[in-house]
Amino acid sequence: MSSEGFPRATAYLQCIETTCRATYDASERIYTCEQCGGLLDVQYEWQRARLFDVLETFDARRASFHPHDTSGVWRFRELLPFVTSPAQIVTLGEGNTPVWDAPRSAGYAGLKRLAVKHQGLNPTGSFKDNGMTTGMAQARRLGARAVACASTGNTSASLAAYAARAGVHGIVFIPGGRIAYGKLAQSLDYGAVTLQIEGNFDDAMRLVRELARTTPLYLLNSVNPFRLEGQKTIAFELLQQRRWRVPDWVVVPGGNLGNVSALGKGFKELHNLGLIARLPRLAVVQAEGAAPLAQWYAAGQTGNLAPVARPKTLATAIQIGNPVSWLKAVRALEWTNGVCAVVSEQEIADAKAMLGRDGIGCEPASAATVAGLRRLVSERVVDPDADVVAILTGNALKDPDFTVQYHTGQLYTDAERETHLTHAEGKLVPTFANTPRQVPADATVLRQVILDLLETPPA
Ligand SMILES: *Cc1c(COP(=O)(O)O)cnc(C)c1O
Repeated sequence: MSSEGFPRATAYLQCIETTCRATYDASERIYTCEQCGGLLDVQYEWQRARLFDVLETFDARRASFHPHDTSGVWRFRELLPFVTSPAQIVTLGEGNTPVWDAPRSAGYAGLKRLAVKHQGLNPTGSFKDNGMTTGMAQARRLGARAVACASTGNTSASLAAYAARAGVHGIVFIPGGRIAYGKLAQSLDYGAVTLQIEGNFDDAMRLVRELARTTPLYLLNSVNPFRLEGQKTIAFELLQQRRWRVPDWVVVPGGNLGNVSALGKGFKELHNLGLIARLPRLAVVQAEGAAPLAQWYAAGQTGNLAPVARPKTLATAIQIGNPVSWLKAVRALEWTNGVCAVVSEQEIADAKAMLGRDGIGCEPASAATVAGLRRLVSERVVDPDADVVAILTGNALKDPDFTVQYHTGQLYTDAERETHLTHAEGKLVPTFANTPRQVPADATVLRQVILDLLETPPA
């Protein structure tokens, strides 16, 4: 196996708290600072002289067939030098996600143009794969035999797949109640031990963190800084696809706030290394019912973030009340002169339908980006001429119920269903509904339907 481009480890862990800044060896099995409990960064002693032409190396690898080069994460391995042996790498060819124009969504948001990078086209259907491959590499480096996470779905799906590929136990803690079926299906299929906790996401998180201290489980939630190392490569791949031209804005949905933190770190590292001339501005978008970061900003950015006790949104991937990485997110927004926006359930649902009209399916959480942009353009924070990229985080097929309910006028913010609806309120308006039509099995009738249809332009 080629070890080309796998530099010797120059990595260490460092507490992000400015009053602490304690450092640890990268081979220590810790998730937060032992001194103060703060979040940790993976840091590197860069050998700048060796990195001056690294972008050319990254570009050259696009012609290679080696799995470490075709991975949209490990292609950038000079900027992930915590790996001590290529044998630690478990790859499913993660990353490699397309960047597309979304002209209708651009118009809807009030922008001249909009590009979307669809992380939902990862092997398990979300950007979690970018981080899971690096988290799993660190797990292998530490010799872990079992990996675990708490998750509303996509992290479990990804962990389950990478654990299966690595041949270690995968254990996922999922909250009781609403969880998108596509994601649960994946965890089960990939053979993870799936523990449905009688509690919400935050309860599941607290339990798994405790168990990672008291048992040999290796924790692969995004509190683990090695996850974010993989997610930072979304920034690298995006820029590579743009010939290293930096956009004005990059927009992401925010749940646990790991992804915005990772993007911030990725862009900042490229900038610090002199590989890009400026930073894009980051915008993170939260759902109204799960917007603790937006509330912290609105309340004047003082003290600690106040968790939302009962986070509520149909965008289950961002239904998080107590985001682990909030301080890293604040730092990323500081670095990039970024902003935090809030959107309603109705705005998320309509933005998702608008992306659909561009031929782009995504999870509800992902559509929060376009909804957020619409707000930010109308508030004159984002210029209509700006060069904007929205990161679509998850695949449409993760949560098909949401989509069908929207288009058939049956999407409610509060609903209980057994086989049929037993209780429903808070109906969302299917602004851009595309409802299936009942027609007889009769060619004469259908002929007329089709001829009528051809009289009008396509939707
Ligand atoms: C995990 C996830 C998010 C939220 O990302 P954070 O890093 O937790 O902020 C958004 N959308 C999808 C589809 C996700 O899987």
